[in-house]
Amino acid sequence: MIPIIGDLKPPSLLTLEMSDALRGYVNIRPEHGQPVCFAALLAGLKPVMDDWVSQDRLDELVEVCRQRGLAVAAEVQFEALSDQGRLDGVVGRETLTTTRAVGHALADRVAGASVHVFIGADRRIVERTRAAGWYPLIIGGRAMNKPWIDHLWFGDGLGYPRCCLDAFARNNNWTLNNMPYQAYRSVRGEASYLCNSLMRFSGLTWAAHLPCRYDCQATIEAAGRVRTEMRRHCRELADWIDRLCAVPYLVLNEWEAFAFSGASVSPGVIEYSGVTIAPSNRPDLDLFAALRRGASLRIRDDMVVIFDKGGTVVHVEHTAADQFAPRIACTVDFRRTPSQPVPRTPCAAGDASPGRPGAAGTG
Ligand SMILES: [Zn+2]
Repeated sequence: MIPIIGDLKPPSLLTLEMSDALRGYVNIRPEHGQPVCFAALLAGLKPVMDDWVSQDRLDELVEVCRQRGLAVAAEVQFEALSDQGRLDGVVGRETLTTTRAVGHALADRVAGASVHVFIGADRRIVERTRAAGWYPLIIGGRAMNKPWIDHLWFGDGLGYPRCCLDAFARNNNWTLNNMPYQAYRSVRGEASYLCNSLMRFSGLTWAAHLPCRYDCQATIEAAGRVRTEMRRHCRELADWIDRLCAVPYLVLNEWEAFAFSGASVSPGVIEYSGVTIAPSNRPDLDLFAALRRGASLRIRDDMVVIFDKGGTVVHVEHTAADQFAPRIACTVDFRRTPSQPVPRTPCAAGDASPGRPGAAGTG
């Protein structure tokens, strides 16, 4: 998992008691892995997962997977792009969103690079998912995105619900739209922690995908099954994931989300005693620092106003929806507990349209 910063920071996975099957994976991917996805693969709840592993541990991963009846297909190596300025002259650079890296061939020796791998029980589906699982490329100074059908085939291979894949096709336009906001504003009942994938880059969420709604029934059912499996493999880790997912969040876009503990929530308002930042490739550390100085926040039109315990304003964050990666502040309360029944409401395509920037409220 990518390290989580804040009061909900979980312990190192290597310190937890867990099944041998999960331990084999966690030993190879102790900090940046996806233990929930791997547990889902072991149980046959997910056809394929894609993952990242350093080249010198690839053989070890292949062997651990082989012992559990899982095949591995390797793609290219990615080296994290430390100098974002290299993209300045690229035509279409604004379409590159959450993954920015330099690609290398598998055989190259590149310090710090990771091999993109695809793991699953059925090699045919693994290969098909690998073929669709490529990232936008820069060729000759021009960014090139993959066709929409590859997004669909890739999502199918990863086992994502069709309603969520359809919502992704409609709304994953970073120039105009914002998937978490659409998931929030499409809620018909109550937001479920099982649909909360805002911490997904940590690997510690029950849903690994962007849900169509934070009460998506298909996601709730699939994520609930994975949660049951994880409790068999490692109860303590399952408890930690519950803790990370089932709290109120302030969300601005896919890059910027914050979890609150000790919180009381009313529409557009959170009072809190602790705050944790969701990992992303562009986390807003300045806003995080301001939230840490505060004790409550209030969304006012296109501003997030942060107050200290005495009610004094410590920071005003201006959000803007008329830019790439529109920032639309909303509060989402994911505190529905596992024992509470979830109302069955079907997910329908075509109900999400852009809303008023700055709208606030609880899920
Ligand atoms: Zn859905």
